[in-house]
Amino acid sequence: MEEEKSLNFIEQIVEKDLAEGVNNGRIQTRFPPEPNGYLHIGHVKAICMDFGIAEKYNGVCNLRFDDTNPAKEDTEYVETIERDIAWLGFKWGQIYYASDYFQQLYDLAIMFIKQGKAYVDEQTAEQIAEQKGTPTEPGVASPYRDRPIEENLRLFEAMQRGEIEEGKMVLRAKIDMANPNMHFRDPIMYRIITSHPHHRTGTKWKVYPMYDFAHGQSDYFEGVTHSICTLEFEVHRPLYDYFIDQFSGPNFCGLSPYGPDYRPKQREFNRLNITYTVMSKRKMLQLVKEGLVAGWDDPRMPTVCGLRRRGYTPKAIRDFMDRIGYTKVEGMIDQGLLEHTIREDLKETAPRVCAIFDPVKLVITNYEGAGETIIAENIDGHEELGTREMKFGRELWIERGDFLEEADNKFYRLSPGGREVRLKASYIIQATGCEKDASGKITTVYATYDPDSKSGTEGGNRKTKATINWVECNSALDAEVRLYDRLFAVENPSAEEGDFRDLLNPDSLKVVTAKVESSLATAKPQDHFQFLKQGYFVVDDDSKADKLIFNRTCSLKDNYLK
Ligand code: ATP
Ligand code: MG
Repeated sequence: MEEEKSLNFIEQIVEKDLAEGVNNGRIQTRFPPEPNGYLHIGHVKAICMDFGIAEKYNGVCNLRFDDTNPAKEDTEYVETIERDIAWLGFKWGQIYYASDYFQQLYDLAIMFIKQGKAYVDEQTAEQIAEQKGTPTEPGVASPYRDRPIEENLRLFEAMQRGEIEEGKMVLRAKIDMANPNMHFRDPIMYRIITSHPHHRTGTKWKVYPMYDFAHGQSDYFEGVTHSICTLEFEVHRPLYDYFIDQFSGPNFCGLSPYGPDYRPKQREFNRLNITYTVMSKRKMLQLVKEGLVAGWDDPRMPTVCGLRRRGYTPKAIRDFMDRIGYTKVEGMIDQGLLEHTIREDLKETAPRVCAIFDPVKLVITNYEGAGETIIAENIDGHEELGTREMKFGRELWIERGDFLEEADNKFYRLSPGGREVRLKASYIIQATGCEKDASGKITTVYATYDPDSKSGTEGGNRKTKATINWVECNSALDAEVRLYDRLFAVENPSAEEGDFRDLLNPDSLKVVTAKVESSLATAKPQDHFQFLKQGYFVVDDDSKADKLIFNRTCSLKDNYLK
């Protein structure tokens, strides 16, 4: 009972089908991206569903590239899609391409024509759209609707031979121009595309199937049992079923090894939308092409590679999908929840280090000697997670904001006149004064330390009201730190009127130089850290030992209200 309650509605359907022996208990899903852009976090919701169902019910999930529009698709995208899915930790069974079925689909189209179920229309796309009618008014039949079968065959073959110009003719299913479901009003099955070669089949094909005449058929050829997709396809489902009816069940003509009783079933769940970003490949492509972001993997992008570069982990992304769940109701998810899940993950795993963003020099006037090495725990109180070495010496970088020349008694950090402050993981100091330049800007802070106050010794237990971060000057490394924020300034850029590009957040990236601990010299791309008091950061892919670059994954503060 407990178990059952937590099933999502798709899992409930699958369990019912299994109980009833539908499709002989076989479970096969597919993830069907169109290779016309990079995967985004919306796709990951579908990936977690498709692969998750297969994993949970001992089935298989295949990867199928829905490559039926050569004008937009490319091999570059195929490769990144495979890489991203693997990075997320999912394993597909087979890799298929809709283009593998171009011959079968063409043969099916010929069969439809011969059965009087399809015709070649010579009208323009605009004319066809105008004749569609409205949900309450029937459409108008094309003047070509009753063309003789022989003529349809001859013209369709001429289309495929490249004898007809792109846009001049289409093949339409002859179904019902008055059907209340607009998708039944003689949908287009095939169009001519001769202006772009296909990334796999080159110029072999001059006609390409439309989504509705390719997707269900591909599912059927492969033996998919549960064809899971997003809600906008719900209105396509009757057409999906109609096409499959024409060659399965009593009309079975051997196109599937699973026999006449086998049927794929389409099921729909709600899309993922997240605040302060866009979830459309078309818009993302525009941002990339126009240089409004640094690329598909810009850490502000909601793409899988962007999230990775931002410092998101597969675990956090998959946790996020578990939390939001699957329903039949469209909605908008707070970006704060996504940040919350990565924070929860990194909190447990990311080593803590000091990074000083707005440095001012601190001189410890009574510190004699060349310096020393301090052993600090990666995560306080978790010795098992390792330690690191911090160089300590007479001159340190501290945050400018941690010193005030004149402070009231509510300021617990450094100020001349007595207050004791602990330097993180090391000694207690007291400020004694400061030096300024001609403009009045503080250039050096002076302090004395208590040699008997070192953390980890008996004197280290002495409490102070404040602890401040520091990095020793001689060993400090300069690092470029990229402070990322939301890509858009408004909650739902897709709902606003006008150009979505005008809604970009002008402060989505600030670059600063920070002084960081020498222990970071060996940090590698994709290493995660918490910069104490600053946030979570990841080493950028372009980072080198002599030019460290860190990206801010998220701040420390959690604004997400549960
Ligand atoms: P876009 O609108 O960004 O171009 P798409 O739906 O055209 O996306 P496809 O490559 O066709 O992209 O999508 C592959 C699969 O991912 C489909 O099953 C689709 O339903 C699913 N998918 C796409 N966007 C989302 C989303 N925001 N939330 C959940 N699933 C999604
Ligand atoms: Mg699509």
